Amino acid sequence: MARINQNYDKLGASYLFAEISRRAKAFAEKNPGVELLRLGIGDTTLPLAPTVVAGLRAGAEKLGAAETYTGYGDYEGEKWMREAIASVYRERGVNLDVSEIFVSDGAKSDSSNIQSIFSSDAVVAIQDPAYPVYVDSNVMAGRTGAYDPARQQYQGIIYMPCTEANGFFPELPGQKVDLVYLCSPNNPTGAVATHAQLSLFVEYARARKAVIVFDAAYSTFIRDPSLPQSIYEIPGARSCAIELNSFSKTAGFTGVRLGWAVVPKELTCEATPPGKLNAMWYRRQSTFFNGPSNVVQAGGAAALTPRGREECRAIVDHYLESARIIREGFTLAGLTCFGGTNAPYVWARTPGGMSSWDFFDKLLREAHVVTTPGSGFGPSGEGYVRLSAFGRRSDTERAVAAVRAALGKR
Ligand code: PLP
Repeated sequence: MARINQNYDKLGASYLFAEISRRAKAFAEKNPGVELLRLGIGDTTLPLAPTVVAGLRAGAEKLGAAETYTGYGDYEGEKWMREAIASVYRERGVNLDVSEIFVSDGAKSDSSNIQSIFSSDAVVAIQDPAYPVYVDSNVMAGRTGAYDPARQQYQGIIYMPCTEANGFFPELPGQKVDLVYLCSPNNPTGAVATHAQLSLFVEYARARKAVIVFDAAYSTFIRDPSLPQSIYEIPGARSCAIELNSFSKTAGFTGVRLGWAVVPKELTCEATPPGKLNAMWYRRQSTFFNGPSNVVQAGGAAALTPRGREECRAIVDHYLESARIIREGFTLAGLTCFGGTNAPYVWARTPGGMSSWDFFDKLLREAHVVTTPGSGFGPSGEGYVRLSAFGRRSDTERAVAAVRAALGKR
């Protein structure tokens, strides 16, 4: 008799974005003819850069000729792809061996799968608010107790509040934890960690043989040269941190799918010699994953050529300008805003202490604008909404104008 993994029953009934579309759909059905403007979901809208399209095309053409056809590639990605990624790190003074880089179909898969190489009783600390995948993947893996609706938390997870008081970067956990998830530039708050802030966590992890999972999916949005784009810019991080990254927001690969994980050879944790975690991730990937698409890797390598990077940088610049427009517009509408510089997300405090969902409903009803309620990212997100810069510019401008009109400030 088969039995289900009962940890799934602990998960919240509905995924945040499903509830948002349910409410938006219900509003649209009751108000036919009203156009909804979206500042919610973080999906990209600009087309791929020409160099990337040429790379994808060339990758596909290769498969159409007997002499150049290839089937399965390396589980951890083609060597030329890993060399291209390593060369980008070298510019930041970070020297990685290609055997430390694992190319994947995206950072969502890696951020949910990485926990599988750690013990099932590992104590997990997560920034609050956070990208929901870190919590949910650990719930499914059985590292938590039940969901406590009163505290809006899973028992057993250490929530690290990120609030206005701490500049949306957490204090060190008060107890020993084993796995620490950090994301910078942050989804959802748009906060970017400094060298000093990351150094504290690196020291903490090294002292306690903990491992940091550092999600750098938005690293190319950092324009301030004083801010770290990789955790390996922090001395000592190679022995205590795994880094995840993605082509999704950098090169418009949300539908194309490509990302990578760095698992350094030096990485250790309790009773684990250097090299073992790297070998375990290879074992995990080679068992569960047959490597990233060869066509997609050809597109990814093109995105990392000097020309490709220039074109992709222009795309990121465009989203950064949209973030500025959102932040400025919402501030003029009377809201207190955070993030939106060196990051594609603006984190706006709701007016008058309104709850995240009440403010979501108000903006939907009165401005016909869809946002993302901050409480969906964790209890410390209550009282905020997340605004995304990834929409079309004209829609973003209209949404900002509609919010200003609805809140009485034109
Ligand atoms: N990590 C963070 C913090 C994200 O916000 C997202 C997507 O929104 C991802 C990872 C997923 O990236 P990918 O599209 O590479 O799976």
